[in-house]
Amino acid sequence: MTAGSSEEQLLEFLYACPVGLIECDAAGDIAMMNPHAMQLLLPLAGPRDASNLFAALEQHAPELRSMVTAFAPAAGRICDGHRIFVELGPARRGVPKVLACTLVKLGADRLMATLTDISQQVVQEQRLRQADTWFATLLDGINDYAALTIAGDGRIVSADACFTHQTGHEVADVVGQNLGEVLCTDISGGDLCLDDQLQIAARDGWHLQEGWQRRADHNRYWCQRLVVARTGGEASAGSHYSVVLRDVPRREAAAEDLRRLLTRDHLTGAVNRRHFSQAMEREQTQWRDLRQSLSLVVLDLDHFKAVNDAHGHPVGDILLRRVAETCAALLPPRGIFARLGGEEFGALLPRYDRTQAANLAEEMRAAIAAIEVDVPDGTLRATASFGYATLDEVEGSIDDLIGLADQRLYAAKRAGRNQVFAAQAHAA
Ligand code: GH3
Ligand code: MG
Ligand code: MG
Repeated sequence: MTAGSSEEQLLEFLYACPVGLIECDAAGDIAMMNPHAMQLLLPLAGPRDASNLFAALEQHAPELRSMVTAFAPAAGRICDGHRIFVELGPARRGVPKVLACTLVKLGADRLMATLTDISQQVVQEQRLRQADTWFATLLDGINDYAALTIAGDGRIVSADACFTHQTGHEVADVVGQNLGEVLCTDISGGDLCLDDQLQIAARDGWHLQEGWQRRADHNRYWCQRLVVARTGGEASAGSHYSVVLRDVPRREAAAEDLRRLLTRDHLTGAVNRRHFSQAMEREQTQWRDLRQSLSLVVLDLDHFKAVNDAHGHPVGDILLRRVAETCAALLPPRGIFARLGGEEFGALLPRYDRTQAANLAEEMRAAIAAIEVDVPDGTLRATASFGYATLDEVEGSIDDLIGLADQRLYAAKRAGRNQVFAAQAHAA
């Protein structure tokens, strides 16, 4: 093979490659990029210099430059699938557009970057998270539900006894009939068209929707219907689907219930970790665009294991709830309080600078120390240790924000617990 032909092959590969490939120097000046990279990068660059990777991504991922600078080894992977959240064009309003960026250092002054559009994947992840939560509530037995199996043409193959309880139809009477005809969808609301739902479930694996539906006695009820494809491929007569029907009291209550399940921690009612991280990403964008400060306070209860050991897990749970209530009550209007782990919590504070964050942490510390829980042999008290950090300190990286706040939290632990990290004490 001649050098010429292998070069041609390389060019052909670069041209056809479905991933954006960019080669640049340490300062970001681009030496080579394939057409796909151009397609992804040019709209992001806007009026900025599109011949420099960092300049082109300045608005959406200003952290890339500092990640490269901070990477000390002579060669290696600087980041892997780093997510870049991109603004939306008018055509795709409402759909997040997300790129994954991998940066590899090839030498002192040579970098290779790949850019991949992972928007669809992110949407799928969100759908999966919803499904997760939905199934979790079924398994917890919180809600009344009925389960049945239908064939690809909508005919009912089997149904459980709860189906009769929920809809008023005897199972023996409905087997072999089309589910869409058995469960008359009420025209006054909802969009339970079975055929459409089956098609989507065949394509994506599952589909969840809700609407008014009629029971055998013609009374209507609000029904959430989940259809899951049991065999892959197209919606053919050979495929089967599992259908779960949930009778939920009221439309508003159902939506609120589902929203709570998706965003809140069961035990404490604080925002859950997933939702918190989504909120952080949203606030990070604000920080970038408006340059408003953003702070994070993290806290971890002191010697909490000893509380469980001495008083039992249920008392530990009560304390966790009281701590969450107490701290949430101290939040500013845009603040978000979340349970990040077992006995670790976080407060996201938009527009709060370092001093304001430290002050709020101190208020929370004092409020927690004042909590009293009655136990058989007296009164139980608790303390917590606090760390905090601002997005300015870490040049906009959420991972580094959490890392720095955690590091300071553990410094506060080492300094004796029941305290907020004190910058001066650690300055030396
Ligand atoms: P430190 O001051 O160093 O943080 O000590 P600690 O005992 O709080 O820390 P450690 O991480 O050793 O223990 C955390 C304990 O939190 C252990 C675990 O059993 C308890 N825990 C985690 N989640 C829950 C929960 O949901 N309910 C209860 N009651 N306890 C929990
Ligand atoms: Mg602890
Ligand atoms: Mg802990």
